[in-house]
Amino acid sequence: MATNSLKIMYLSAEVAPFAKTGGLADVAGSLPKALNALGHDVRIVMPRYGRISPERFGLKEVIPELKVPMGDKTESARILQGEIGSGEEKTTVYFVDNARLYDRDNIYMYPDDAERFLFFSKAALELARKLNWQPDIVHCNDWHTAMVPNWLKTIYKDDPFFAHTATVYTIHNLAYQGVFGYRVLEIAGLAEYGFIAHPETASLNDVVDFMARGILFADVITTVSPRYAQEILTPEYGEGLDGILRDRKDRLFGILNGIDVDTLNPATDPNLPVNFDADSLGRRVENKLALQKEVGLPQRPDVPLMGVISRLADQKGFDLLGQIMDPLFRFNDVQFVLLGTGEERYHHMFQQMAQRYPDRFSANFTFNAPLAQKIYGGSDMFLMPSRFEPCGLGQMIAMRYGSVPVVRETGGLADTVENYDPTTGKGNGFTFREYDSMALYTTVVRALENYRYPKIWRKLMLRGMKKDFSWQKSAKEYVEVYRKALRFRAGK
Ligand code: ADP
Repeated sequence: MATNSLKIMYLSAEVAPFAKTGGLADVAGSLPKALNALGHDVRIVMPRYGRISPERFGLKEVIPELKVPMGDKTESARILQGEIGSGEEKTTVYFVDNARLYDRDNIYMYPDDAERFLFFSKAALELARKLNWQPDIVHCNDWHTAMVPNWLKTIYKDDPFFAHTATVYTIHNLAYQGVFGYRVLEIAGLAEYGFIAHPETASLNDVVDFMARGILFADVITTVSPRYAQEILTPEYGEGLDGILRDRKDRLFGILNGIDVDTLNPATDPNLPVNFDADSLGRRVENKLALQKEVGLPQRPDVPLMGVISRLADQKGFDLLGQIMDPLFRFNDVQFVLLGTGEERYHHMFQQMAQRYPDRFSANFTFNAPLAQKIYGGSDMFLMPSRFEPCGLGQMIAMRYGSVPVVRETGGLADTVENYDPTTGKGNGFTFREYDSMALYTTVVRALENYRYPKIWRKLMLRGMKKDFSWQKSAKEYVEVYRKALRFRAGK
């Protein structure tokens, strides 16, 4: 291994394929592999949730009992080890196992979530010590692991083992900050330091906001697209933390997420009825017909089929969609296939839509990875009208699979989708700026109009399919950021 290679401990509450609710899992399951391929020593740590079967994933116990000090108590964890990737991408994954905290049906939404993720974070640090593996970087993700930078600057400050360890904190979505009461400080062993008072953010004076602590204490902060890195400095997108982000904006970098182009490949994806690539686009219609059949829509190769795959949350802009469906169906020949789970009112809204337009709107309320791939590989267009979107992976996967994106120009959507301009012939999708149902409506109609011209449409599909969404470029940007973090840590 090269002498300037870095030891990076990568902490995430979700890692694909072990546990996934959204984009964080995809990133955690692919960025570390790309970093290892660059010659660094990256190891992932995640909790061993009850649903992760050691047999299925071939996990082995490596440490039967790791002692983890938590506040004034000590609790044990068992450490299992597995791996993802192969060849130079092979990446070790450590699992923190503790039946009391993680042996449950779901990943989140328990009253003791703060304690669950504090224990996981603390166990990761103690694991490094036990392995005698001194990380140059601890890379923390989202609120779950945001206390690590705070710990390294307080209770671990004089610990020689972490004397040179720098922290990088990545914000995947500012809307989920992990806000709890004072008791959490006692569990974290930080009671003596109290709440953080910050002149810009009075709302932090009497709560423990995990994400705010990650932002305030990390050596470097990153977020998942350049546009979102700019947006979160404003009150409109800052979710109350724009003040502290502006304060630290010299430490904030936007790096666009990649996707795992090896597994997300229409030429080899085993979930697709028919594999295809840029040279065999003609075969793709078979996937469309199979998809229409599977989700109960009339099998029509000519009708434009629009796909939606998403958490059903306010962030994703479905209120706009709700407002345009009736006129859209009245005046246009179009089919929709929706796959998503989330808030009850969106289930209700889309359920009604499916009842009103059974031949045109198919609603599928499950988390179903194989069906998702079939939608990417069989739909003609992919819709993401998000209110805000830190990066968004859906539009990238869709493009790679030849489904043309229709998106709002925000965050990572703005960084990846370029509006088609018929006067110049440039662009790879259809975009709108204002968060407004008329703007969405006219953009969808624009897409439908262009769909009628196979030559133009084929060009749009090919542009998306040929765009480079691999991690290679972004992984190098992360390495730059790691080196910056080490310089900040050393006070240089
Ligand atoms: P977010 O992280 O906000 O949920 P992203 O677009 O970044 O949004 O990532 C969403 C990921 O989760 C994509 O890989 C998408 O295909 C997947 N996904 C979302 N909902 C479902 C679902 N119901 N079934 C299968 N995959 C889903």
